[in-house]
Amino acid sequence: MKPAPVSRRHFLHAALAGGAVSQSSVIAADTPTVKAGQFAEPGRDIPLANDADVIVCGAGPAGVTAAITAARAGARVRLFEWRGCLGGVWTAGLLGYFLDFNKPGFAKELRDKLDERGARANSTSTSRFCYDPEALKLLLEELCVEAGVKFQYHTRVSAAFREGRQLTTIVTESKSGREAWRAPVFIDTTGDGDLGVQAGCGFEIGEAANCPCQPMSLNALLMVKDAEALREFIRFGTPKPGENTDGEKKDRIKDAIVGTGHYPSYASPTLWHVSGNLVFAMMNHEYGIKPWDAAEITAATVRARGEMNKMVNGLRALGGPWEGIQIVATAEQIGVRDGRRIKGRYTVLQDDLAQGVRHEDAVTRVTFGIDVHALSADHNKKHAIMPKPIKMKPYDIPLRALIAQDVDGLMMAGRCISGDFISHSSYRVTGNAVAMGEAAGVTAAIAALSKRAPHEVAWSESEAKLKAMGQR
Ligand SMILES: Cc1cc2nc3c(=O)[nH]c(=O)nc-3n(C[C@H](O)[C@H](O)[C@H](O)COP(=O)(O)OP(=O)(O)OC[C@H]3O[C@@H](n4cnc5c(N)ncnc54)[C@H](O)[C@@H]3O)c2cc1C
Repeated sequence: MKPAPVSRRHFLHAALAGGAVSQSSVIAADTPTVKAGQFAEPGRDIPLANDADVIVCGAGPAGVTAAITAARAGARVRLFEWRGCLGGVWTAGLLGYFLDFNKPGFAKELRDKLDERGARANSTSTSRFCYDPEALKLLLEELCVEAGVKFQYHTRVSAAFREGRQLTTIVTESKSGREAWRAPVFIDTTGDGDLGVQAGCGFEIGEAANCPCQPMSLNALLMVKDAEALREFIRFGTPKPGENTDGEKKDRIKDAIVGTGHYPSYASPTLWHVSGNLVFAMMNHEYGIKPWDAAEITAATVRARGEMNKMVNGLRALGGPWEGIQIVATAEQIGVRDGRRIKGRYTVLQDDLAQGVRHEDAVTRVTFGIDVHALSADHNKKHAIMPKPIKMKPYDIPLRALIAQDVDGLMMAGRCISGDFISHSSYRVTGNAVAMGEAAGVTAAIAALSKRAPHEVAWSESEAKLKAMGQR
């Protein structure tokens, strides 16, 4: 169902303003007020749709999995994504590498489907591997269409409204203007916890209230003349016997870049072989950027793109095996490691990792370790990855960490679930984001279809449903 048409009053405003104006330029107040650097935004009527059981906000690894799973579980699902493709950091961020992916359900399905399409780099590991980002974009779209997910690009979730504790309505902004959408259950998969904060949930960020947060990185897809000739620098999915270690490869890339007269902002620069002449690059860090500050993110992106070009141009000028190396594309989206962690009914803590905690409502077991990148350029000179504060054992993420504490009808999945700085550095990788998306999707569908809140659904019920759906 399309949202209801704009009101006659808005139509008249639009018509008077010159006809072909988008709804978003319609102004509803006659005398807008400005005082002390603040603009009092006028209220207005906007179209409202009430045709979904579950609304998923953000289509990264967690969101796209949540949406597909909820739809397969029988829910009518809407999925909103700000960018022009599905996959989040996987695709718009040119991430390059799946981690902690040796999991059942949708993770296995994705691995198998990428294999069928020859889109997973030849790898001895089912847990860590490279993929073709373009093939992944297409696959995710096909799976969403097949599952009946109604997804909409270039649409930003910008506000949320509650009735008491119950989240009932969100507002999106896009070329179609501002639109409102109602549903009994919502899932925040924006990575940055945008929906949770809009709905009034408590949250944590970075190491403390005002960051410091992990650095951002602008990744890129590169073309090389002969990947084999660069084997002492590039990580391959299937290493050859006696080949130098991944750490040695990173050191060699760093030394090569330093040899061009530039010290890389990420002192463990990494190149992964995708296929043929294609290579992913993660070679940049942007420090001290607040993930809620668009001006800072813009400046960081411009700086990072400049540095990536400088480093690749420098390597090419070295000649030899580097001859012909060039950037195919830098990511459209700078990679944000750290965002808001929305307060849930359970908070995953560093101590959970130390103890290897187990839960009855475990949605997944995390095996990826603590991974805090240097928090400043000074740190980067000493260690690109910060020393680990504890020895980690594989640990469980309980369903409760995916259910908002302060608001009913709201779940989270992916990097914005409830956890502390250290645990987040471990569970944030995409294998866990997928497992969490799957858990949130099925639980949200059961809750909506049975007119319960997500916290009233037992994990055993969700697990049984996943089994019945063949996702376990
Ligand atoms: C540089 C970098 C390197 C990494 N390396 C690895 C690695 O090698 N392997 C690995 O597995 N993981 C890695 N990670 C971690 C992993 O990529 C993320 O933690 C993971 O993508 C989290 O998934 P997500 O779905 O929660 O968030 P995201 O991938 O961030 O997706 C969030 C989505 O929501 C959308 N969105 C945000 N706000 C709104 C809004 N208001 N309205 C509508 N849409 C919105 C975004 O556009 C995006 O598509 C890395 C991360 C970074 C940044």
